[in-house]
Amino acid sequence: MSSSPVVSRSSTDILEDLQFFAAQSLEKIEVNRYYEVIRELGKGTYGKVDLVIHKIRGTKMALKFLKKKTTKLKSFLREYSISLYVSPCPFIINIFGIAFETDEYYVFAQEYALAGDLFDIIPPQVGLPEPVAKRCIHQVAIALDYLHCKKLVHRDIKPENILIFDKECRKVKLSDFGMTRRAGSPVKRVSGTIPYTAPELCDTSKSEGFCVDYSTDVWAFGVLLFCMLTGNFPWEKAMPSDAFYEEFVRWQRRRTGSVPSQWRRFTDDALRLFRKLLSLEAECRCSVKEVFAHFSQRWMLDGEGGGNHQAMLNSSSEDEELLVDRMKQQTLSPVVSAAKGGQIEPGTTAAHFFTSVSTNSSLSLTNSYERVSRDSTPSGRILVATPIEICV
Ligand code: AMP
Repeated sequence: MSSSPVVSRSSTDILEDLQFFAAQSLEKIEVNRYYEVIRELGKGTYGKVDLVIHKIRGTKMALKFLKKKTTKLKSFLREYSISLYVSPCPFIINIFGIAFETDEYYVFAQEYALAGDLFDIIPPQVGLPEPVAKRCIHQVAIALDYLHCKKLVHRDIKPENILIFDKECRKVKLSDFGMTRRAGSPVKRVSGTIPYTAPELCDTSKSEGFCVDYSTDVWAFGVLLFCMLTGNFPWEKAMPSDAFYEEFVRWQRRRTGSVPSQWRRFTDDALRLFRKLLSLEAECRCSVKEVFAHFSQRWMLDGEGGGNHQAMLNSSSEDEELLVDRMKQQTLSPVVSAAKGGQIEPGTTAAHFFTSVSTNSSLSLTNSYERVSRDSTPSGRILVATPIEICV
């Protein structure tokens, strides 16, 4: 009788296997043959996301189309495989195991989030009620912690990438793993910043590359929390040229005891949390788990208490083996795949208007961002021409 040694496999091996099997089974299909397109859910320079119904199964799903012109096969396989790898977490968007190509696009299927994304429900300059924001951020924190436990860094945390299933945020899921990389992997500086970009990545004096690090997600998570609670950005970019950011820096470095104007609506407890999440030095930033210790506190001076969720942090390596097995056995064909179920001076009260901003890795050449509403009618979002600098 032979016994096989139990070899524990790293996430690197598993992701490579997933990419390999996905590449092997990638079929060219005609979308209209298998899917009825209902409407467009999102659009960007990368491609689009359509809501479709599988003609045979009757399942509603979101198909993400990545333009072959601007997306390398390798990048598509990476995004698809990472999405599949992390989808066991209940707070991460589910992947159906369906991937294929058309003449123009690489495509994969995700579960459909019926209420859209978080950006749509944050009232500009008002923010979400504290209990709703807490419920939402709790689920995002679990998802991000899960990702970090898998040694992955999301690198594009923002409201547009938090998909919601109801307007009360009882069920929210993290999505879009197009920028996700392994912690420690080298990335080149390209250009551009958005309000969620950590200061160390905004520093244009550093022309060399970076190592991907969890701390950049923690920073973006802190900015996200501010946006959710206020409906504003805390600054346009975390750079010395930004007066709002500089005011925050002086307070963070304890050069002034006076809390920056737009932070005065928070309780001391919330400010303590923000100080840790938005620590100026990446090495001093807390982990995303820190937020779990703060849910019982009041965050807004005029706020109410929050809720509680159970964390589901790790799937076992057995689960991961099963996932790879599932990939080996199934074709990725949709036919047979099983479906799973304006600048204002600091000192005034207003801050940067809350707008949708894009970090699309493949298209740093485009400096402007336009977001098409899911109804293809004017969305009411403020469109900005924000210089985008990012690292890929
Ligand atoms: P992405 O490029 O994946 O961030 O998707 C762009 C936009 O399309 C998102 O901000 C959402 O508004 C929408 N979207 C993407 N995936 C889904 C989904 N699975 N369900 C509903 N809407 C989605």
